[in-house]
Amino acid sequence: MDTTAQVAALPHVVIIGAGFGGLQAAKAFRKKRVRVTIIDRTNHHLFQPLLYQVATAGLSPAEIAAPVRAILRGQKNATVLMGMVTKIDMGARQVILDHGHRKVTYDYLILAAGGSTSYFGHDDWAAVATGLKTLDEATLIREKVLMAFEMAEKEVDPQLREALMTVVVVGGGPTGVEMAGAMAELARFTLIKDFRNIHPESAKVILIEAGDRLLGVYTEDLTSYTEEKLRKMGVYVRVNTRVTNIDAGVVETSGGVIHAANTIWAAGVAGNPLAKDLGVPTDRGSRVIVDADLRLPGQERVYAIGDFAHYEHPHTYGGKMIPGLSPPAIQQGDHAVKNILLQMAGKPTEKFQYSDLGSMATIGRSAAVADVHGFHMKGFIAWMAWLFIHLIKLVSFQSRVVVLMRWAYSYFTWSRGSRLIMRSPAEVVADTRLAADVELGIEPPEAPVPFESLREVVKEDEGVAWPGPPWSSTS
Ligand SMILES: Cc1cc2nc3c(=O)[nH]c(=O)nc-3n(C[C@H](O)[C@H](O)[C@H](O)COP(=O)(O)OP(=O)(O)OC[C@H]3O[C@@H](n4cnc5c(N)ncnc54)[C@H](O)[C@@H]3O)c2cc1C
Repeated sequence: MDTTAQVAALPHVVIIGAGFGGLQAAKAFRKKRVRVTIIDRTNHHLFQPLLYQVATAGLSPAEIAAPVRAILRGQKNATVLMGMVTKIDMGARQVILDHGHRKVTYDYLILAAGGSTSYFGHDDWAAVATGLKTLDEATLIREKVLMAFEMAEKEVDPQLREALMTVVVVGGGPTGVEMAGAMAELARFTLIKDFRNIHPESAKVILIEAGDRLLGVYTEDLTSYTEEKLRKMGVYVRVNTRVTNIDAGVVETSGGVIHAANTIWAAGVAGNPLAKDLGVPTDRGSRVIVDADLRLPGQERVYAIGDFAHYEHPHTYGGKMIPGLSPPAIQQGDHAVKNILLQMAGKPTEKFQYSDLGSMATIGRSAAVADVHGFHMKGFIAWMAWLFIHLIKLVSFQSRVVVLMRWAYSYFTWSRGSRLIMRSPAEVVADTRLAADVELGIEPPEAPVPFESLREVVKEDEGVAWPGPPWSSTS
């Protein structure tokens, strides 16, 4: 066994981010003669592909996340630090945590801090259109939607009740499709028996996409299947529709104005704010552009992987940019480790080759689409494949067992067991116009009433309600 001094003399690899890429890299250093420090702003590794299930009350947060410390418990050469990386000084080879409270010096650095939500230049929309990237956002969506149904149950004004039971999902990519399908199922099959005054099955879930079809990266047959399936589930699919403004309770689009208590933003992803200060080239989405071996240009010892990086080189994936998905992040985590070990051995680094595993998206219960190297699957078979793949990819055995049991139970009972509202009404409405009302001197009620500002909006825009029935398409 090494003495403390011998361990301290080992090369120190710092990994920022314990997501798919960073965690894979940390694990790949197991039993290697290096010291690894992995830093994350949260204490958990999050399985983002199932976030929409937390947002729609199908799963609990603990079922899709696991403490990083527990995952790496048995790996003696790995240290876990929970902290926000606020700066990187590549000249001094230092990572600065929590605004300078702690500095960590590295010999090699792997940037795996993932991406962020992009509002396409409208950052003010973030306060009223919740993104879906973290557990906090997923639980906020869940609680706001459930709270809106609670308010609707005691609301007497039919227009306001309708607005309370309207959810707008912006963005027709895989996340938007999954979210819209699951929201419709939550309302139409789960909540249907729980209320006496309202009819949850008449809730409006509106999916808005600026392009001319959903799931734009998939082939047209899979897109048509998805649109038709969603419409049958009661989702109002609106393609060729641009969002022009979002405010609390109102979504303005090129096709009309929608009154909705809840708007979910599933439209854009961008790089991590950390990338901006590195002084290296970034793409339009602020992802750092990396060399063929995954290093930052001009930086001998700094690698960037996963959603943090823009990887586009002629030798792989037809020269196209590698997509922001978990398999590339995992493969790049392994490759960065391989190259660091080659560097330590005094050998040249190797180019990264992407092995494309295909893509799949779930639409709802018993329906999914998949495209694996041109082989298309849809319907129940694709859904079973989706379930199986997502189950085995969950990081802990315990999560796999619990999630499998929850899915099986939900499948037969239509139940969604995680329907608790944990925040106070004030916290739930913190991002509605109520806060602005208070600022303007409008007397606040003793305890804030969630979605109160919606009442004003509905009255102001009386008569311009939109859209039509789920099966009609927009022009
Ligand atoms: C809703 C949703 C659904 C998705 N569905 C799928 C899917 O079905 N299939 C698929 O393959 N991919 C899917 N993806 C994409 C996939 O999750 C990402 O491509 C993948 O997570 C990227 O891995 P990563 O390691 O680069 O970053 P991440 O997994 O995002 O990890 C980044 C980590 O860095 C940490 N971090 C960030 N900034 C800092 C900082 N300043 N200091 C310290 N720590 C920091 C974060 O807390 C996080 O733990 C989905 C993504 C989302 C949001």
